Amino acid sequence: MMYHRYKEDFKLEIKEYPFLCKLCKKEKALIEIPSQKIKVCKNCYNNFFENRIKKTIEKYKMILPQDRIGIFLSGGKDSSTLLFVLKKLYPDINLQAIFLNLGIKYYSEKVEILVKTFCENLKVPLFIYNLPEREGYRIDDFIFTYFKNKVCSACGAIKRYLFSKIAKELGLTVIATGHHLDDIVSTMLSLFFQGDFLGIAKLKPVLLPLSPNQVKKSKPLYTTPEKEIFYYAVLNEIPIENFICPHADKSPPKTIKKFLTELEEKNRQIKYQLLSVFTKKLIPLIKSNYKEETFNLCIKCGEITTAGDKICSRCKRIELLKKVDNKILELTKEEFENYIQNLNSDWVLIDLKGKENLLNESTKKLKKFFNPYKTRHIFLTSSQPEIGYLLALKLRKKGFKAYNVKEI
Ligand code: SF4
Ligand code: ZN
Repeated sequence: MMYHRYKEDFKLEIKEYPFLCKLCKKEKALIEIPSQKIKVCKNCYNNFFENRIKKTIEKYKMILPQDRIGIFLSGGKDSSTLLFVLKKLYPDINLQAIFLNLGIKYYSEKVEILVKTFCENLKVPLFIYNLPEREGYRIDDFIFTYFKNKVCSACGAIKRYLFSKIAKELGLTVIATGHHLDDIVSTMLSLFFQGDFLGIAKLKPVLLPLSPNQVKKSKPLYTTPEKEIFYYAVLNEIPIENFICPHADKSPPKTIKKFLTELEEKNRQIKYQLLSVFTKKLIPLIKSNYKEETFNLCIKCGEITTAGDKICSRCKRIELLKKVDNKILELTKEEFENYIQNLNSDWVLIDLKGKENLLNESTKKLKKFFNPYKTRHIFLTSSQPEIGYLLALKLRKKGFKAYNVKEI
């Protein structure tokens, strides 16, 4: 018996059932197909899973034989499973894996190692784009801007720009993304609640390029439920990241995902029903009532934008970063000693030994502990530098001037 967990969302128990697979009726059943509520053997699970993806790819003409397909790997289960399945279904297609090292300290490095090993084992070429080296800033730097409590929003705009830039650099014709059924339906519902009907109409399985800078984007997992991706990844020993990005937040789609999971307990086809209502009924209605959005090309980077000033959201965010003079969040012991010489306000050095739990404390408790130092520069140190760094990030988000000091 094997027991697996993925973050807080999924757990899976794989065990040999005392009956045969409901599909082949030859092997012992090992795992349930959640959307079908039947227990099957490993082979039948894989066939069922892969065939549905193949049908989706063919139905929407997502991949053509002459295509050069790029997959941006995040280290998570969705993009890794997509790469694994595409390689298995189409061993001869021109596949290119890409990893964006976004400069999220103590996170990007770990994911990069995982992704490198995965691609080596799968024999798929990997291109690594190192954002700090190539563009001179990190996603962590947004902690010093107005985006400090919504770093994902800044990161999303940067990633969209990088998708196009790298696709061009590598001569890709398609970017295949790991968006799955749960992503699509929860985003549709979230946009519906916000009244963003045009946004719903854009959630297509294939997005054709809107400008010469873009390439076609396909979602081969469009009809695959998230839980089944997790089961497939575990069953096929696909390495999936269990590290959590320090900027990840509970977004509305995630709350809606939970709500959908609850609905699914009563009606296991609910996600497919909603997808069908949205795509067959609502989207055609939206299209016949709304004019297509007009867009311009950004005067700075050439990406498409709907902004009136013709400056895209990525370029606006980069401008914000340029206005920050001091982006120091982590110092070595020597740097710290020099730094405090030039400080013209009070500072405090806190050793986190025995206080590591502060990292998991509620905002209320964290504030109670650190409020006495609110006006000072707070330098944290720990024998585990990652803890000091993550806590410094957390404190910055709450308005404290916190830093991590290494090797002290
Ligand atoms: Fe970027 Fe947010 Fe994803 Fe982290 S969780 S990589 S900040 S989008
Ligand atoms: Zn731009």
